[in-house]
Amino acid sequence: MAALEEVDPSAVPEMVAKLRKAFNTGKTRPKQYRLHQLKCLLRMLEEKEDEIATAIYNDLRRSKEESMLGEFFSTKAELVTAINNLDEWMKPEYVKKDMTDMINSIYIQREPLGVVCVISSWNYPIVVLIQPVAAAIAAGNVVLLKPSDVSTHTSNLMMELIPQYLDPECYSVAAGGIPVAQAVLKEKFDHIIYTGSSGVGKIIMKAAAEHLTPVTLEMGGKSPCYVDSSANIKVAGKRIAWGKYLNAGQTCLAPDYVLCQKSVKDDLVASIKTAVKEFYGEDPRTSKSYARVINERHFTRVERLLKDGVTVMGGESDKDDLYIAPTLITDVKNDDAIMEDEIFGPILPIVTVDDLDGAIDYINGKEKPLVLYAFTTNKQVQKLLSTRTSSGGFTVNDVLVQFGVLTLPFGGVGNSGQGAYHGKFGFDTFSHKKACYITTSITEPLMSVRYPPFTTRNLKIASSLIVPKIKRRSYFRKAVMLCFIAVMVAFGLRRLGYSFF
Ligand code: NAD
Repeated sequence: MAALEEVDPSAVPEMVAKLRKAFNTGKTRPKQYRLHQLKCLLRMLEEKEDEIATAIYNDLRRSKEESMLGEFFSTKAELVTAINNLDEWMKPEYVKKDMTDMINSIYIQREPLGVVCVISSWNYPIVVLIQPVAAAIAAGNVVLLKPSDVSTHTSNLMMELIPQYLDPECYSVAAGGIPVAQAVLKEKFDHIIYTGSSGVGKIIMKAAAEHLTPVTLEMGGKSPCYVDSSANIKVAGKRIAWGKYLNAGQTCLAPDYVLCQKSVKDDLVASIKTAVKEFYGEDPRTSKSYARVINERHFTRVERLLKDGVTVMGGESDKDDLYIAPTLITDVKNDDAIMEDEIFGPILPIVTVDDLDGAIDYINGKEKPLVLYAFTTNKQVQKLLSTRTSSGGFTVNDVLVQFGVLTLPFGGVGNSGQGAYHGKFGFDTFSHKKACYITTSITEPLMSVRYPPFTTRNLKIASSLIVPKIKRRSYFRKAVMLCFIAVMVAFGLRRLGYSFF
């Protein structure tokens, strides 16, 4: 294990002051500047693909192929989407206006917030660092990057590469452990985006409150996966196994546990076992495609959960190798340790419920998850699950794929997070939406009703200008419109010589 390269915590205030000074010069605002930095990040991912994949391998023993799928493609997609759409995103957004404002120019102008801090976790050390940074750059901000100290190799590499590829005046890396994180949190930022556990999320929010700094919190939680008998169980098992055991279960969006009825359980267990054999062979320990637990602390935490329920697949572990086999557990009870917190490791418990209501009650008995998965072809079941529960996202008949859809916001709700990014949502997260109202003195006759001395007549006019009328039911408006069109057509035809009477 390489030693972590850290900045001196006492150097952090100066780093932030330097970034603010650079922001105040207006350097990061022009579109061309933003585009250039985004392209530099893209170039970094292309030119340093091997070095980055190796660093991730050294942190997580994750194969280059899995990192291509799990980190590089989605991060490149985020960068390219920003590059392709920046022109559109930066344009003023003209809004609906009343008759009284017809000659005024009314629009929303997105402007950069200033100094943004990105604090990231270790499990996808490129995705959760570079994707928020891309959004912050696109929005015209300067950025302080605080990568996770747990993924040491990737953190060290980012310390080396970021100053080579991005403008060092405007983008700095404050790598380090908790003392560095604490020094960072003492500083005043214009926005903090944090990816990590809910426990530390509270620390981040408290520190941000001191400066009234807005936060985006990207956290995890126990994302449930409901499977019913209408689903294609073979495909469900394969997809669930892929999403769960990818990165050895250390994926914030992984299905944390499965909920199903007794009648579905055996078939599902069989299909997950088949999929795991297909993916990783008879002995996953020897598979190049199977990652390891990040460190001893997390290994001990996850290994402890192996004693719950009945192990029907896997269960083997080796501390020296940080290996925990892809494991499937049935017969778990609600008060088992494995059902308390997010597992964040390669163990999948299956909880049996009597029916859909039982599943919904179970989900609602826990904190709001990052995502709710359902495998079912029954539309009514999909609707009930979606409307009677709350989660950051809702994905039916697959897992993880929603993350790649950049026209969807990515974020949690309640304990799983607040705020979102990806595509335009990220650009908006790091932009202030400035409300712009541009008028002229021509409107003075109309606007003079507001001036003292007040009169009943002027108040009446003001009321009619300010208070909108309640909209009539749409079918009434439609009927009026249809009558109007019919009369106009009739008149038109009459002028052309047709007569109806
Ligand atoms: P972590 O230990 O790397 O911590 C995250 C960041 O917080 C790091 O940069 C770390 O230095 C900093 N930190 C840790 N302790 C701190 C403290 N006391 N004060 C200030 N800063 C501190 O990562 P983690 O928390 O183990 O991450 C795993 C969690 O992240 C899981 O819950 C997972 O679900 C979640 N996650 C969420 C997403 C998402 O996008 N929603 C993505 C990845 C991971």
